Amino acid sequence: MFKKLLGALPLLLFLGLFIQTNLLIASDVAFEEINAQITLFKSSTQQGLIITDEERSVVIDPIDRKTANEIKSFLQQTNKSSVTEIIYTHSHWDRIRGGEALKDKKTAIIAQKNCEIYFSGNKNKEVVEPNIYFDESYTLKIGEEILKLHYFGPSHGECMLIAELVNAKILFIPDLVSTKGARFPKDPTLPFLRPATLGAFFDSMQNLANAKQIDVFISGEFNEKTFGSTEIIKTGVFRVSSDLSKDCLMLAVTSGQRLVQFVNKKVIRCTWPM
Ligand SMILES: [Zn+2]
Repeated sequence: MFKKLLGALPLLLFLGLFIQTNLLIASDVAFEEINAQITLFKSSTQQGLIITDEERSVVIDPIDRKTANEIKSFLQQTNKSSVTEIIYTHSHWDRIRGGEALKDKKTAIIAQKNCEIYFSGNKNKEVVEPNIYFDESYTLKIGEEILKLHYFGPSHGECMLIAELVNAKILFIPDLVSTKGARFPKDPTLPFLRPATLGAFFDSMQNLANAKQIDVFISGEFNEKTFGSTEIIKTGVFRVSSDLSKDCLMLAVTSGQRLVQFVNKKVIRCTWPM
């Protein structure tokens, strides 16, 4: 038995090093240039955007203090403007900590107005409260690019927005949809999900993609593929995010009626992999 273990030692050491190396890579913040104005940053399982021109930098979701510090260093090292606006895509703390590392007295911190209740009584010093709330949409002109924030009603939480990069023809979808497909927790009654309004939310996103002929989106969830096809929104294919050991992982939800069936915990169609 001992000999067997000794024999396996090099393999175990190799595996240990391999796992450690991956973790190191996973803990770093990586930056990817989408075009001259738009940079995607990846931090562990999350990602966000920086949009810059000669006078301003807009950050979509600072994620956490470590990421925010890395963003600050990146902007300094690449001679880009310091942060003038921070956008919170929704109220969840896994995406909106670290603002204090980026802001100064003039920095605008923008969120949809239904987020406001989640900041009342906030005692987390890493979470800086917004100072601008919008209702249905909010537009920022950043050099040649136009950033339009859309609110399509409750979806993943009460106040999640969709960011449209008008000239680049890209949507940024923070949560709920990854480049692997739409993601839906196994339990549709989780308090942050709003299943009753999800159909309308996906319809609005689809209408936007159709009207503006937007073919691709970037998700707030890190995946190997940077861009996902907006066909994912149109077909409304939902991937159950938990319990990956089960055979039946895929749920196709293409209409309000089917959504109701899913909410009643009936599986409509299963396919794997996508
Ligand atoms: Zn969230």
